Amino acid sequence: MSFSHADNAAKFIADEARTDWHDETLWFIRSKRDKAAHGLPEWEDLRQAASDIKEHALNNLDTYLIQFENNALANGVKVHWAYDGEQHNQIVHSILKNAGIKKMIKSKSMLTEECHLNDYLKHYGIEVIDTDLGERIVQLREETPSHIVLPAIHLKKEDVSATFYKHLQTEKGNNASRYLTRAARTHLRKSFFTSEVALTGVNFAVAETGSIVVSTNEGNADLGVNSARVHIASMGIEKIIPEAKHLAVFLRLLARSATGQPITTYNSHFTKPMQGKEMHVIIVNNKRTKQLANPDFRNSLKCIRCAACFNTCPVYRRSGGHSYHTAVAGPFGSLHLPNIDMKANADLPFASTPCGSCTNVCPVKIDIHNQLWKWRQVLMKDAYAPFGKKMAMKGMAWVLGSPGLYRFAGNMARWVMRVFPSVLKNKKMNAWYKQRDMPTPPKESFRNWFITQKKDG
Ligand code: SF4
Repeated sequence: MSFSHADNAAKFIADEARTDWHDETLWFIRSKRDKAAHGLPEWEDLRQAASDIKEHALNNLDTYLIQFENNALANGVKVHWAYDGEQHNQIVHSILKNAGIKKMIKSKSMLTEECHLNDYLKHYGIEVIDTDLGERIVQLREETPSHIVLPAIHLKKEDVSATFYKHLQTEKGNNASRYLTRAARTHLRKSFFTSEVALTGVNFAVAETGSIVVSTNEGNADLGVNSARVHIASMGIEKIIPEAKHLAVFLRLLARSATGQPITTYNSHFTKPMQGKEMHVIIVNNKRTKQLANPDFRNSLKCIRCAACFNTCPVYRRSGGHSYHTAVAGPFGSLHLPNIDMKANADLPFASTPCGSCTNVCPVKIDIHNQLWKWRQVLMKDAYAPFGKKMAMKGMAWVLGSPGLYRFAGNMARWVMRVFPSVLKNKKMNAWYKQRDMPTPPKESFRNWFITQKKDG
């Protein structure tokens, strides 16, 4: 996989039928979200309330994190703090090592994807089984998730059937959904009942009670935690909410924004370890405090990982999640990841139109498209943008800064389009025309036309 969104997208869109199907599937989910949102007259009030609660939590993060830690410790939970992804992985490893365990099940956690936990543990001979069905499918295929809520949304059931035939020895060519689901269930059950450690993500961490809330539609987090001896929960520092009553706002927004459901099927509250068992919470920074200190990007920490911005984004829908070369794709990934590694993710803020549709659907009112635009400015300034793009932007700034030069450039462009259209149509020189038709150049500029019209009264 390339580290260029454009190169990866080119591979994805080469299969036009799949691109159309992907686009329509995501749009179907976006439409379900719209229906669910429009069904609640108080929807905009809920969005505002969620945004305000997160604002307050971010402004008082130090207080609420400590309150959460104290309450969790009082509940008998072991609390760990990780400065970055590496430290998070070391903590998970040390818990497994102390318990003498070589196999772990894991429900969906985008933070562990961000920290590359699976690869880290594999290096130490520890097997990690992802138990979310979509995640397990992509894990068997040695792929990363392409969507944070629907990790295998890029795959059709024929692909899943072929994957299961190869890895789970199912019948060749049997694409029946019920058959494939049963096969996955039988396969995963074995891991649920033989694994002693279960790792989960955290959707919300309640400071007031020291408990965590994990939302899944499959119940895999609950089954894993209840059958294992050790529960490890990994959370970013931004997952804190002050009080349990605030869940009423977030849980209503989360499911509707993610899939159009009124509520996620399982919203499990974990407060203390069961008798004879262990519960650990790892609180991870991984450059989030850097984001917190930057007023331009601070409010992206309000994100509740619903993926509504993915489902609505015309670029994501038509380029696929893997084009973002990271497990946290889409508009949110393009905001979040340059903060973690600016150089490796310098292309991502440019993978946007930016039409503002992401901002319109975001349940916590993050101004996503504005922040992508701000990231572009940071990247250009800090020389992380590709050389060609940087020079082109400098040239544009020069031309647009001078009316005379702008008029001259317009006249030249119209002349070239008329006399040498092949120069501009050359796909190697001008990627813009790879998927577009060249318009017929107008005879004169709008400015000249306007002046003539005015003269003629
Ligand atoms: S940025 Fe907003 S819309 Fe996108 S995943 Fe986060 S909460 Fe959802």
